[in-house]
Amino acid sequence: MTKFLSVVSELMSKDNVLVLGHVMPDGDDISSVACLAEGLRRLGKTARAGIDDQIAWYYKLFFAVDKIESFEQLQDFSPDLIVVVDCSSPDRVGRFQDLLKKAKLVVIDHHETNALFGDLNLVDVSSASTAQIVYNINKAMEVSYDPQLATTNLLGIMTDTGFFRYSNTDGNVLRTAAELVELGAQPYFVASTILENRTPEQFKLLEKMIEHMKVEDGLVYSWLSYEDYLSLGCTEDDSSGFVSELRSMKDIEVAILFTEFPEGEVHVSFRSKHWLNVSKIAAALGGGGHARAAGCSYKNVELNKVIDEVLRLTREALAGGRHETD
Ligand code: AMP
Ligand code: MN
Ligand code: MN
Repeated sequence: MTKFLSVVSELMSKDNVLVLGHVMPDGDDISSVACLAEGLRRLGKTARAGIDDQIAWYYKLFFAVDKIESFEQLQDFSPDLIVVVDCSSPDRVGRFQDLLKKAKLVVIDHHETNALFGDLNLVDVSSASTAQIVYNINKAMEVSYDPQLATTNLLGIMTDTGFFRYSNTDGNVLRTAAELVELGAQPYFVASTILENRTPEQFKLLEKMIEHMKVEDGLVYSWLSYEDYLSLGCTEDDSSGFVSELRSMKDIEVAILFTEFPEGEVHVSFRSKHWLNVSKIAAALGGGGHARAAGCSYKNVELNKVIDEVLRLTREALAGGRHETD
């Protein structure tokens, strides 16, 4: 039996399922968690969903996202199966990590840096989003789709492909998206909800990022300190998507954004354009991701020290050139 069919039969055979996503949740993660849990519920199972972090307000405008619960809310649940989606390592589920040992564990993901920490691992690195894998699983389980569920499923595909602009946009992405649109999904709703809801404060934060921006050979980087967020009444969610603005610069290969939120906690977002495998740099620093989009996180650090360390590694990788790093 293929891994895919093993996962489908495992899901079909269990009645109490917990679906978990990662901290700092993005659109693909939220979509995958919400759609898999909803699919199982539509088959009459008890399926609950959890993410141990804040979910940005605009994601809550999508169907089934309001059913994702917090770590505290899920304390009363004893699942007979746990499914972790879009997570490359067990620490990415936050405080749910200790729970992972308490039931059979299925991992569904598309990160090449996946640590294969499940009893069953369905990791398809050729898939642009985890949401596509979830759609295929739901289809195999004969889950009924309506326009609302289809739109939430499309959310993950659209966000992880940069709205069909990134190099991971392939025939499967477009075919699955087309199937979802035929089921009633609304691409316009996804795009306008995610891309056209920036507050004036976010624009001021963007201004700060541009003010701090530095450009050198093949590289553009910038940073936002906790003080920057605080002074504008912003949180880390408000800089979501900013690193893509940096990558849009002409003639650069890699863009890096350093964000400190809250004080002493720094997240590093890497994006590359054509050849540099940034997941290798992120993985060397304890993070992970994809060849063209990766990240890592630090606690109890000084922003400047992180910037120095990351720039040193990135400059080395850039100088190493195309052949050694890709
Ligand atoms: P971001 O820059 O936060 O948008 O993340 C880009 C990609 O890197 C996503 O696929 C994330 O799942 C992955 N990623 C980000 N941060 C981490 C981390 N701390 N550990 C592992 N993967 C990460
Ligand atoms: Mn993700
Ligand atoms: Mn993803």
